[in-house]
Amino acid sequence: MNKQAIGTRCVQGGYRPGNGEPRQIPIIQSTTFKYATSEDMGKLFDLEASGYFYTRLQNPTSDAVAAKICELEGGTAAMLTSSGMAASFLAVFNLCSCGDHFISSSAIYGGTFNLFAVTLKRMGIEVTFVSPDATEEELQAAFRPETKLVFGETIANPALKVLDIEKFARVAHKNGVPLIIDNTFPTSVNCRPFEWGADIVVHATTKYMDGHGSAVGGAIVDSGKFDWTQYPEKFPGLCTPDESYHGITYTERFGIEGAYITKATAQLMRDLGVTPAPMNAFLLNLGLESLHVRMKRHCESALEVANYLENHEKIGWVTYPGLKSSPDYELAQKYLPDGTCGVVSFGIKGGRAAASEFMKKLNIIAIETHVADARSCCLHPATATHRQLSDEELVACGVGPDLVRLSVGLEDAADLIADIEQALAAI
Ligand SMILES: *Cc1c(COP(=O)(O)O)cnc(C)c1O
Repeated sequence: MNKQAIGTRCVQGGYRPGNGEPRQIPIIQSTTFKYATSEDMGKLFDLEASGYFYTRLQNPTSDAVAAKICELEGGTAAMLTSSGMAASFLAVFNLCSCGDHFISSSAIYGGTFNLFAVTLKRMGIEVTFVSPDATEEELQAAFRPETKLVFGETIANPALKVLDIEKFARVAHKNGVPLIIDNTFPTSVNCRPFEWGADIVVHATTKYMDGHGSAVGGAIVDSGKFDWTQYPEKFPGLCTPDESYHGITYTERFGIEGAYITKATAQLMRDLGVTPAPMNAFLLNLGLESLHVRMKRHCESALEVANYLENHEKIGWVTYPGLKSSPDYELAQKYLPDGTCGVVSFGIKGGRAAASEFMKKLNIIAIETHVADARSCCLHPATATHRQLSDEELVACGVGPDLVRLSVGLEDAADLIADIEQALAAI
């Protein structure tokens, strides 16, 4: 199936019904599954047979959708989670315990930054943030004996920085640890990080994959390429018996293709229960069926809007990695040749007051904290998500007081530009 084009995988991947079975993925809205004997069920609990017993761990609807995302990324195993945050948390916590350390690009989603810097710290897991532009030497300097992984975002939300995935993968592998990539903004349609050396991919499916603002969700995909058994002392959770699962050693039983996701399901889903509702998995699949068509349109319109803004006298600056003037243009051409994403950020001359005035005048583009929706939306972080910060603090974290983040939707680009034009004319 992976030999088929990405668009075909978006439409048909994951679920292949047999004769007389439903054409669309059935919604198995059931918490539990029935068995004839306790012995049958025991085999499932011992992971000796595969099958379903309780939806907190696994559900057929969610698994079919996870299988599609697995095919999109070109991985060997995948799972869905209840949110993008849950996906990032499980992806890291599956490898790190109290006393461990990991390295992350500093250009990441604000929620993930907080998870890493504050919440994981309370669990005894330490992070070192590095610049996405760090040299190999600077990256190397961040490693410690207890470092377990490296993390970054293909296109950072909201900084729109493009990560040099190959460089980060090279340094991670030299130190015997995997690279985890949050591939939310480009989606698997525009970038497949495994092709550039990444080992694990996470998604906030809430964004473009769902694409209609319908269901919060996440996904984790394993490339199956990182050989944990080369570093058994570093990854004891995967390479030594799990006493909470009858002494199973995940790498022995499921191979390097299946160990990571099986452990995350059997151990972390069992204990933390961040599972998606089957109905939400179904809604996500409806989004995935048109992902390749929508991404193309999001990217084309965003480039048109970015070009328009760049040439407008009331606009101070525009950040969009698809623009030739972007410092990340070369990286974007390499990793994202078919398009980047639909999010553009820009600064309005006149700062905080002008930005806020501009947004009030918009008619089609709505004010929301969301991005990556079919409907265009925008946010002024200085008066919303980042309103506690002073202007100096805003500049320090890369979100100036004049910054407007615009998520270009699927409406006609000419209408969006006309909406922006009349709002700019009014300030
Ligand atoms: C939104 C987002 C998340 C978090 O996803 P939720 O589904 O909101 O929990 C993580 N990473 C990126 C890049 C995001 O944009």
